Amino acid sequence: MQIPLARPEIDDADIAAVRSVLQDPEGRLALGPRLGAFERDLADAADRKIAIAVSSGTCALHLIVRALGIGPGDEVITTPFSFVASTNCVLFERATPVFVDIEPRTLCIDPERIDAAITPKTRAILAVDVFGHPADWPALERIADRHGLALIDDSAEALGSMLNGRRCGSFGRAGVFGFYPNKQITTGEGGAVVTDDPHLAELCRSMADQGRGDGGWLHHVRLGYNYRLDEMSAALGLSQLGRLDAIVESRARVAERYSDALAGIDGIVLPSVADGVRMSWFVYVVRLAERFSRSDRDGVLEGLSRRGIGCRDYFQPIHLLPFVREALGTAPGRFPVTEAVADRTIALPFFNRIREEQIEMVAGALREELERVG
Ligand SMILES: *Cc1c(COP(=O)(O)O)cnc(C)c1O
Repeated sequence: MQIPLARPEIDDADIAAVRSVLQDPEGRLALGPRLGAFERDLADAADRKIAIAVSSGTCALHLIVRALGIGPGDEVITTPFSFVASTNCVLFERATPVFVDIEPRTLCIDPERIDAAITPKTRAILAVDVFGHPADWPALERIADRHGLALIDDSAEALGSMLNGRRCGSFGRAGVFGFYPNKQITTGEGGAVVTDDPHLAELCRSMADQGRGDGGWLHHVRLGYNYRLDEMSAALGLSQLGRLDAIVESRARVAERYSDALAGIDGIVLPSVADGVRMSWFVYVVRLAERFSRSDRDGVLEGLSRRGIGCRDYFQPIHLLPFVREALGTAPGRFPVTEAVADRTIALPFFNRIREEQIEMVAGALREELERVG
């Protein structure tokens, strides 16, 4: 690809931080001091008391679902417009994801549709801060309180975003971050649970570390996993997290340049940002207007790819993935907002150091491809 869809920004300080782990005279490549330091800084960045760094965002979600004791027969309300992990974590525990359609501007779960999905089996609401945009947390908190449900904040795409001065990751019982290389900060592979609940944190930490208790290396008090984050990854995360504000700012500048460059193009819906939101942009996703079909969109994606421009149909609706249809009996037509949006999305190349002329080139190519399809 001439212009990739995403690209992590690794600077000299990041490289030095990882090298210093590898050069540690004691050879501490796991469970060392950078892990603890990364967790403290992460907790601060999320306005939480506790952070537990783990080996992926998916692991973090799984730990929370298990720590809340969610299992067979329980229902978890969530969004079909997300990365698949936010549904898989419920399926891992043989509980039932119950999808609720999205709000068409923020693309996050629509609180007004949740009441109708609540049953006596509902245990939790797992909402996602889609593309970095906060879900409507005040409304979600009211619903969760009214019905006695646990609220989970999948903020894997929203480290650094804020809603009315509150940080993403800080809502509900626990939040999740992800540090795959396309996220705002990366550890290679990695993720974290953030929470204010010491009991929940204790359970997550133990399960992430082979079910260990306080009794020592071979003392296992519960079923556990190895979801630990190694020391090289923690060092990289710590270094990257130290410049989160600068990263959020440079991504905001890129988003602004895109909005300017695309403003005059007929047939494109630009991403919208609700009042009270500070966006930490994960990806920059435009939508084609209603008059375009899914195959028009696919044609545009193909045309852009042919020109060497990284692009993607972010996301495919989760309820339409074959294995989910088989597990839950879902079918097309059930979540019309999600389906209409998902048929028309185009994620454009988006990374901190994308150059102005690259943005112009993408905008020009998009205009031409749109004219070509109709
Ligand atoms: C990235 C992401 C995750 C975590 O993904 P991993 O690849 O397991 O780190 C979880 N939920 C959402 C919405 C994501 O975008």
